[in-house]
Amino acid sequence: MPPPENGPLDLAVVGLGAAGGSLAWRLAGTATRFAVVEPPPASSRRTQVRTWCTWGPAGPGPFGPLVAASWSRLRVVAADGAEVQRSLDPWRYRMLRSTDVEAAVRERLTAAGVPVVAGVVEDLVAGPAGVAVRGEGLDLLARRVLDTRPVPVPTTGRTLLLQHFLGRRIRTQDPVFDAGCVTLMDFRVPQPRGGVAFGYVLPTSAHEALVEYTEFSPDLLDDAGYDDAWREYLHRSGIGEHEVLEEERGVIPMTDAPFPPHPVPGVFRFGAAAGAVRPSTGYAFSAVQRQADAVAAALARGGEPVPPRPHGRRHLLMDSLVLEAVARSRLAGDELFVQLFTRNPVHRVLGFLDGSTGLADDLRLMASSPRGPMLRTVAGRARRRSG
Ligand SMILES: Cc1cc2nc3c(=O)[nH]c(=O)nc-3n(C[C@H](O)[C@H](O)[C@H](O)COP(=O)(O)OP(=O)(O)OC[C@H]3O[C@@H](n4cnc5c(N)ncnc54)[C@H](O)[C@@H]3O)c2cc1C
Repeated sequence: MPPPENGPLDLAVVGLGAAGGSLAWRLAGTATRFAVVEPPPASSRRTQVRTWCTWGPAGPGPFGPLVAASWSRLRVVAADGAEVQRSLDPWRYRMLRSTDVEAAVRERLTAAGVPVVAGVVEDLVAGPAGVAVRGEGLDLLARRVLDTRPVPVPTTGRTLLLQHFLGRRIRTQDPVFDAGCVTLMDFRVPQPRGGVAFGYVLPTSAHEALVEYTEFSPDLLDDAGYDDAWREYLHRSGIGEHEVLEEERGVIPMTDAPFPPHPVPGVFRFGAAAGAVRPSTGYAFSAVQRQADAVAAALARGGEPVPPRPHGRRHLLMDSLVLEAVARSRLAGDELFVQLFTRNPVHRVLGFLDGSTGLADDLRLMASSPRGPMLRTVAGRARRRSG
């Protein structure tokens, strides 16, 4: 820890997850004097181990060498078993493990002499000399703080769905997986009311894969419900005898509510806490990379480390319409995704899901999606506004 006589740090980064880790990686070895705070391993506040997937022409930000697996083909399977399979060339769909990323970031920080403080931040208090970062055993003062701690999900939006899933890494007796192809969405599962459900398969060999059952819906299942749904998906997709190697669960809020700024002056929210999760997909990793790039660049030129808005207004509006149409059961989510992948080049759809498409591509995507439900959703909004 830098001694107090050196004055306040330039920056404290609260949390060493995707956002904190991505930024810390970029800042290590620069002129910015900073520290990172992450709860100790035994703390209940610490984020669980995650598998992060991302796609694109280049590597996933600075973590390219850590990619645990990648795929050059993608498939989407409709409820009736019809399959859309596409080459991703020259793109790749890539998988990172949060444990690998955290270990690499810690190593880099240690080499650069940047402290990673084991602690649970309880309070951030602004004073004349900077922001005091408080918690048990914590005593940091920093001019600015980037806070990535999870926040309560804002309830001020039109729609809130939860993306919730059970994933199990399994090893099968028979060689049932195509290790070159990721199954992004397999809709051969019963669909929930006001939501959508699908299988997601990340194979790492003919015998091994992370197989997930995922729902976007208003309510969580109980343990038996996830287990049943997961087994049902395995049955319907023809995956037979297997052993379970690991398990991963998650709940990701999908909302069109704005994420409010941090109330304490000098503190900026960052990552999922700042709305980085894309409302229509639950993906956040690439938005977090964009934010981390911008914050690192701002600090390098002596500016304020304010994370930019993670998603553009047009994409957020499109997401909001999709979320509402699905939640109100106007739009069958499985049909939407199958149509998008059937009627568009794969890079256009993935570009949209990542927030990198321009107006022309977005209009083409809208024209290729079921128009009736979307128009009814727009009309419903207009009626509510005038009524
Ligand atoms: C299971 C799961 C899988 C996901 N998979 C993908 C994916 O494949 N692709 C994708 O794009 N997105 C994915 N997401 C969405 C998103 O990318 C992740 O949620 C990502 O981890 C968000 O990064 P973050 O840094 O904002 O939050 P986190 O990664 O949760 O980081 C927050 C950090 O703050 C720490 N912390 C918490 N409380 C305190 C405290 N009081 N004091 C100090 N530190 C604290 C936590 O331990 C954690 O390290 C996934 C989400 C989940 C839940």
